[in-house]
Amino acid sequence: FTEAEVYQQSFDPREYLKEYYTLTDSQGRPNTFLTQNLRTLFKMFSLDGLSGDTLIDVGCGPTIYQLLSACERFEEIIALDYTDQNRRELEKWLKNEAGAFDWMPVVKYVCELEGDREKWAEKEEKLRKKVKEVLKCDVTKANPTDPVSLPPADCVLSTLCLEGACKDLATFRSALRNISALVKPGGHLVMVTVLRETYYAFNKQVFSCLYLERSMVEDAVEGAGFDVKFSEVQPYLSSDIRTDCEAVLGLVARR
Ligand code: SAH
Repeated sequence: FTEAEVYQQSFDPREYLKEYYTLTDSQGRPNTFLTQNLRTLFKMFSLDGLSGDTLIDVGCGPTIYQLLSACERFEEIIALDYTDQNRRELEKWLKNEAGAFDWMPVVKYVCELEGDREKWAEKEEKLRKKVKEVLKCDVTKANPTDPVSLPPADCVLSTLCLEGACKDLATFRSALRNISALVKPGGHLVMVTVLRETYYAFNKQVFSCLYLERSMVEDAVEGAGFDVKFSEVQPYLSSDIRTDCEAVLGLVARR
């Protein structure tokens, strides 16, 4: 199991972004993992009722792809992650600093899904304005943002975080309960979770992943006080040596 401290010591945000967040890999093959997840997020953030004032992104890592459709439905975003260098990398993009990762191809892809590829610059600006804070969190703590207490949000989003952050199913279930306290009653939880994956790798480093089946995730979400409203599994068919991921679950639940 990869402890949070190992993320802090050795997770390299630049290498992670290069490996998983370009639309084509070094051999020119399309990144179907990314485009499938962008489509799932677009679909989920088009659902009726999935809008409001505030959204909290838990385990944001150095990425913004998960916020591109979300930022059309919520006014203010707070991003949380354990790892200092990941929050710093995200802030680089938010502040438009030199050397920040180039998300433009991904932003264009999402704009195309949403019907207007030409709106990419507007969307980037919108997202940069809406992210108000980037804070440290630990999903294994009862209050993940301790010592800061955040007011509960209309929506909590979490992509590809809990399965890496939790060493067993009991920890996963309790992390979901911790996160549920960040959601207002009546608010939503949106998750993108890999299924039947035990590891992912990049830059010659291997990170562990909690093996999950769809039913285990749905049960844990319900056990944390949510009703599942949408749940869709996309098989991940590509033979990929970087991970043994078999599918991705997109899920929306209401507290
Ligand atoms: N959401 C991003 C990043 C996923 S990588 C994406 O979709 O690509 C997994 C992230 O979980 C890393 O950024 C890591 O710092 C974070 N993480 C690991 N353990 C954590 C913990 N205990 N609490 C909060 N975040 C954690």
